[in-house]
Amino acid sequence: MLLEQITSAGIVGCGGAGFPTAAKYNTKAEYFIINAAECEPLLKTDHYVMNHYADECIQSIAAVGKLLEAEHIVIATKGHYTKEINALETAIHAQNAPISIFKMNNFYPAGDEQIMVFEVTGRTVPPGGIPIEVGCVISNISTMLNIYQAQHGKNVTHKLLTITGAVKEPKILEVPIGTSFDDCLALAGGATIDDFMFINGGPMMGKTGTQEDFSQQVVTKTTSGIIIMEKRDFIYELLEKEIPQMINKARSSCIQCRLCTELCPRYQIGHPIHPHRVMRHLTITEVPEDIDDDPIWKEALLCCECGICEAIACPMNLLPRQVNKYVKQRLAEKGIRYQKNDQPLTPSLMREYQQVPPVKILLKDGLKQYADLKVENLQKYETPRVSIPLKMHIGAPCEPIIQIGDQVKAGDLIGRKPEKALGADIHASIDGTVTAVAASITIERRDN
Ligand code: SF4
Ligand code: SF4
Repeated sequence: MLLEQITSAGIVGCGGAGFPTAAKYNTKAEYFIINAAECEPLLKTDHYVMNHYADECIQSIAAVGKLLEAEHIVIATKGHYTKEINALETAIHAQNAPISIFKMNNFYPAGDEQIMVFEVTGRTVPPGGIPIEVGCVISNISTMLNIYQAQHGKNVTHKLLTITGAVKEPKILEVPIGTSFDDCLALAGGATIDDFMFINGGPMMGKTGTQEDFSQQVVTKTTSGIIIMEKRDFIYELLEKEIPQMINKARSSCIQCRLCTELCPRYQIGHPIHPHRVMRHLTITEVPEDIDDDPIWKEALLCCECGICEAIACPMNLLPRQVNKYVKQRLAEKGIRYQKNDQPLTPSLMREYQQVPPVKILLKDGLKQYADLKVENLQKYETPRVSIPLKMHIGAPCEPIIQIGDQVKAGDLIGRKPEKALGADIHASIDGTVTAVAASITIERRDN
């Protein structure tokens, strides 16, 4: 019953790439872990959910824990989120729910699912593997709010997100899926600077874009935040760098200091990933397009793209993450995957002392000026027009089941995942008339 509700509501993970939640829960697990770390600096969406929807989240967490037959149901959050922890503990006690809270240190990327599994259970997910291989299922706290709503008959139609940075009124927004970023920025009072760039998501793992791209963006099921920021900084340089330029710089400047490896969180939990070796390999490869089955190239496949190596570690301002991304793309084109093996995994003894506080990221990225902004107030908004992408998740795009001219109501099914494919259905987010059906479905609000 619960799995069917999650499927028909079209729920995907709110905290990452949008893995379809029903597919993740079609299993049994020893641990059900809730990611409530919100480890990307500046984002406050999950904070808001914990403070305002603790009862709802605890109800759905307990229900999913039961579905998975989990022996341990654990909310993993940061120890200094005292207000949020109080709200969750109050709800847990009120419902007598079999849920514990695990308090983590304040480091990035505490919310990476493999790091979180290591923190909570002491187990290392096998390289190239997923948490269920060590008995764990992980979901984001905001996903749990969607599940509560699905239990009460509501499909995923709206999204909570943070808008912050160089805006007049940083805030939490609740908007229909498909709302334009332009509308979101207007709701935050507009930008405080003329020339800006933006991040769709958090400063480290979010997708960076230029002001010219901004108006093409819409809120999707995975939009956790929008950060408006000045152009002249480290991230903008990354965006501008061409691949050949990046490779040439790596060839000429990598001093093989190993800092990118030492601070790599996946290396620290014992994975055989050594970004300095990938960088060195690049220096001896004449034609980088010829990346092949070599085991060193394949180490790049273990990179979670957290960005610590380039934003924090590298003293030469090189881009090991971008190099790993490039290598991963070449390997994917050739159909080369990581082969799992039984190699013993030895976590770094230095891990505890090498964790990166989020404030360091803000200093490096020129975002420190926004660190103390209060992002607490919610604004709800019902836009006159939405453009809902058919693909907002990992897997196959949905197939539209409506046509131009159809009248729809918020919550109606408008796109269905292809049969037997991984994916999630999509629903109208406002009442109105369908005016376009392409890679996105456009709906214009009907005046009643
Ligand atoms: S930290 Fe930078 S310079 Fe040092 S090994 Fe890594 S890429 Fe090379
Ligand atoms: S981005 Fe860098 S630090 Fe992060 S997992 Fe990849 S190699 Fe390691």
